[in-house]
Amino acid sequence: MPDPPGSKRRMVQVSDAKDSGAGPAVSVDSAAPGSGAGMQAASDTQAAEAVEETEYEEQVEDEDEEEEDDEEDDEEEEAISPEALADLCGKCKGLCCRYYTVMLDEPDDADDFDELRWFLAHQDCYLYIDEGEWHLNVIANCRFLAPSGQCLIYEHRPEVCRDFGHEEECEWTGAVEFERAFRTIPELEAYAKEVLPPKELADLPLFPEGWRGPV
Ligand code: SF4
Ligand code: SF4
Repeated sequence: MPDPPGSKRRMVQVSDAKDSGAGPAVSVDSAAPGSGAGMQAASDTQAAEAVEETEYEEQVEDEDEEEEDDEEDDEEEEAISPEALADLCGKCKGLCCRYYTVMLDEPDDADDFDELRWFLAHQDCYLYIDEGEWHLNVIANCRFLAPSGQCLIYEHRPEVCRDFGHEEECEWTGAVEFERAFRTIPELEAYAKEVLPPKELADLPLFPEGWRGPV
């Protein structure tokens, strides 16, 4: 599970304080065992520490809240309003309704890569990596997309269609970028050569160097 916002920063600050030697002026250990002065010093120290800790926690909470507010503001700024989206969709004629994607496990051996080669042997199938996740991209018009670009089942469209373009920018805006994309088997094999150990690579029936056949 990812760390909650601010938790890493809090840990760094606590260890920084320890490293700098900052701390109570009178420690329990430095007072005579059982002496009232020692007990008072310990109790004063504990009280001072408790106040410092409370103030510190309040400061961290305030910072975390500010951070969350900033994130919400950013999300609101990035979201496309339904009206703006309707205007965009009317112009683009359903670009996002002409393919679908399926998330895949990251390949880590020859068998995995061979399966991906098989996907790429098919027309209109591509692979891409986005934020570390592998996806199969299949170019296929939705059967409910009218030639005009309208959705014929708009009121009953799946959730994924409802969310698209609201929570993230859509491809018509030109904002979609991938870490890496593979359109052909040789492109994927070039990547496999980068990441697979020689023993695994030897198990792949790789295309010959300079392959000139259909890809
Ligand atoms: S690609 Fe964007 S503009 Fe085009 S139909 Fe999809 S959400 Fe609308
Ligand atoms: S159901 Fe409608 S919105 Fe969803 S992909 Fe098909 S045409 Fe597009």
